[in-house]
Amino acid sequence: MLKNKVIILLLLIFSITGCGAGFWPFDSLKYSGNVNPGQYEWLKGRKIFLDPGHGGKGDSDLFRTGPGGITEEEINLKVALILYDMLKKTGADVRISRKRDVDISNQDRVDMVNEFNPDLFISIHHNGTARRADDVNYPLIFIWGNRQVRPLSYSFAEMLLEEFQNLIEVKGHIISDFSVYRETGTRVLRETRYTCPGVIGEFGFFSDSKHALRLRDLHYNTAEAEAYFYAIAEFFERGLPYAEVLISSTIANETFLYNMITDEKPVIAIKAYSGMEGVGIDRKSLNVTMDGFNVNYKAASDDLFIIDYGKKIYPGGHNLRFSFKNSRGQSSMIYITGFTLEIKKGDYDRLVSEGIRYLNSWRSRKEGLKMLLSAYSMSTTEPDAGRLLWNIARGFKLIGDTVNSEYYYAKLFYFYPQSRFSKKLSCKYKGYRFPVEYNGKYTGIKSEPLLLDCSVK
Ligand SMILES: [Zn+2]
Repeated sequence: MLKNKVIILLLLIFSITGCGAGFWPFDSLKYSGNVNPGQYEWLKGRKIFLDPGHGGKGDSDLFRTGPGGITEEEINLKVALILYDMLKKTGADVRISRKRDVDISNQDRVDMVNEFNPDLFISIHHNGTARRADDVNYPLIFIWGNRQVRPLSYSFAEMLLEEFQNLIEVKGHIISDFSVYRETGTRVLRETRYTCPGVIGEFGFFSDSKHALRLRDLHYNTAEAEAYFYAIAEFFERGLPYAEVLISSTIANETFLYNMITDEKPVIAIKAYSGMEGVGIDRKSLNVTMDGFNVNYKAASDDLFIIDYGKKIYPGGHNLRFSFKNSRGQSSMIYITGFTLEIKKGDYDRLVSEGIRYLNSWRSRKEGLKMLLSAYSMSTTEPDAGRLLWNIARGFKLIGDTVNSEYYYAKLFYFYPQSRFSKKLSCKYKGYRFPVEYNGKYTGIKSEPLLLDCSVK
């Protein structure tokens, strides 16, 4: 307490005399303002988008004005511009949403990010609280949704939080932006979630009088920019894994069906890239679902994984959703790709009747369930959809997959209120809230006939 008072007194003296160079008593030499760009050659060409939050409203935005008239938007901009210069010097391909004190809509920010298609998106903010009288101050990082659907954002957030904590010496945390915007999360993270990993950094509270004093000091702003810089450097040093999906059959897009295939037993593979030279793939880390089912895979080589989807694929739409890690423990984003097996006359009715019949015999339950899922993929709006979902939910329960079973029961209850099957559930789901879904970053699917040589069977 006494120490804090001394520091504030020193600060006052220095800010009055204008003598500030290097006076801030950083415990660590790490944040000295001397970043050597030559040491970070792996940042060269990396696409990074910086978004200094808010802008142009300093006069009227009383919530974002702190002690002594400090405004969040000016600090955001200062830090972002310093970071922008640091990153530029390494040869990184950096964009910034604003370089001046101007008002930009969140939609414009989102559009800029999606157009640039960066490897990483960082929105730079400082926090304010209604509890100003309590001296609230800690670092905070937001990710969209949750850790499960945004593993790479979470991984960057962890690195950034570590840097923030080193600098501010107060424990902070990483939380979901649903904690603030409970239906949707923040627009800037939500509408860039299929493009790249992203975070909102809140390096302490401008509304705290002690922190507001520090944030007025350019050296402290530089140290904060440096904290971002080191987290970014570590993030990219671990590599940025990505993947493509290959299928042995031809893919047609001339029909009304999307990525249409005609072979019901194609070889499907995921080709994984570690995203860094000399770094491999963690072969056990691949997590794949097809139409919501966990599926096994076989490694055909160090980076090629053949999917074992079972006996065959049924007519209708299918999606493959997956993620994996490289050998440095860095996760990929969650990826998704989709294709359709040609639908012929009578396929739908056959899948429904056979599917329900198969479901009732324990030997063929899984195949029955796959048939019903395929049927549902082509009829999500039909009057019969409620019955299909009821049977799908029941099927998942029968094979012991309660998570998927609950998911489909809830989907039936919330999305098909007029179905008689939905009405059966009204006791169970009253008050339940349907969870937010994340599809995954879309990755294409490529025809690769040579794959036929590496069938799983
Ligand atoms: Zn803000």
